[in-house]
Amino acid sequence: MQLFNLKVSSDEVSFAEAVKKGLGKEQGLYFPKSITPFDDIDALLALPFVERSSKILQQLIGDEIKPEVLSRLVEQAFTFPAPIANVEEGVYCLELFHGPTLAFKDFGARFMAQCLSELSKGQKITILTATSGDTGAAVAHAFHGIENIEVVILFPKGKISPLQEKLFSTLGGNVHTVAIESDFDACQQLVKTAFDDPDVREGLHLNSANSINISRLMAQICYYFEAFSQLSPEERANTVVSVPSGNFGNLTAGMFAKVLGLPVKRFVAATNLNDTVPRYWSTGDWLPNLTQATMSNAMDVSQPNNWPRIEALFEQGYLDRSILSAVSIDEEYTQLAMKCLANVGYVSEPHAAVAYKALKRELHEGETGIFLGTAHPAKFRDTVENVLGQPIHLPEALVEVADKESLSVPLANDYEQLKQHLFSILEP
Ligand SMILES: *Cc1c(COP(=O)(O)O)cnc(C)c1O
Repeated sequence: MQLFNLKVSSDEVSFAEAVKKGLGKEQGLYFPKSITPFDDIDALLALPFVERSSKILQQLIGDEIKPEVLSRLVEQAFTFPAPIANVEEGVYCLELFHGPTLAFKDFGARFMAQCLSELSKGQKITILTATSGDTGAAVAHAFHGIENIEVVILFPKGKISPLQEKLFSTLGGNVHTVAIESDFDACQQLVKTAFDDPDVREGLHLNSANSINISRLMAQICYYFEAFSQLSPEERANTVVSVPSGNFGNLTAGMFAKVLGLPVKRFVAATNLNDTVPRYWSTGDWLPNLTQATMSNAMDVSQPNNWPRIEALFEQGYLDRSILSAVSIDEEYTQLAMKCLANVGYVSEPHAAVAYKALKRELHEGETGIFLGTAHPAKFRDTVENVLGQPIHLPEALVEVADKESLSVPLANDYEQLKQHLFSILEP
């Protein structure tokens, strides 16, 4: 598979290089040089999830990874299902939260971990990343126990919920967690400084496991096919998909699925109050505002970093602009949507609720709708219990870690101390 940089088109790389590098020159995103659609979608949809996903990824990646190797990577990454739940007549939630950290980011992070481990062939790598919650947990779990890869996660001490912290700080082994006595921005700054420091970058072979990594997007394409495989043939021809969006990686993956031949009728880009894309879609002007804090905080993004890939899909003629609509849902309607869903017997969380509400606005008579459930309601327990006024059930994964001890090491917001700490744990 060849990819090129959307900012510097002469910067071309293989899949292996794109996975290892993440971003290209001038922070440009990698994009496939060509995409070949499948001829027989029905045959593909008839296959079981893991087998079908291997075929999809093989079609994209080509002969850079042997089919039997790729099948093994997919099998180790996709160890949990992606069912659709029928929440009301003609409306389904694609539940992407049955993985180890209860959010859809498990799919991308786990496949990326498998790819990096395979493609780096024995070379030691250190994943260094800052998190305000979700991403860190997904990355930590994905890389836990993988040979030759060490993971260091920085998070702001006391600024994430204790349960969320325990999801990644209790793993141990090759996963090292550091509680920085400051905020998330300070953690991000420390990571940036480390990447700019050649001693650390080269000495420890740093990699960021960033969310713009092409391997993550590719993994996410697979669950759109999995959703359609569960629909009847009549429904498949008439289905609209609504995606709760922050950095727009998830929607980008859905659009790649369509380019590969999945018969999605339209997409709805659902955002919270951070509505850069919906405003751009109606006015043609790209005018990001300051980011606002909302209940659906994983989507509090005003400069979505995957948008250039979506723009490229339109510009290069893969898709027509008419297949996308964009809707912003405010806080009041998010709460109302959660209540509506609870009334029909489906407890949901704010991100999925934004997508559900946006879907209801855009769905026409006779169409089937799917909205993406990106996180388990228990991950946003306080908000969900507040809005619905009822206690919610904690899934096994959270109950198990609640009693375990956090292995985090506290550190001041000081780069030299962090550097010393990194070398002491990684090169003792
Ligand atoms: C990351 C995240 C999103 C946003 O996904 P993007 O790919 O960044 O658009 C939505 N919901 C939840 C729960 C998330 O963690």
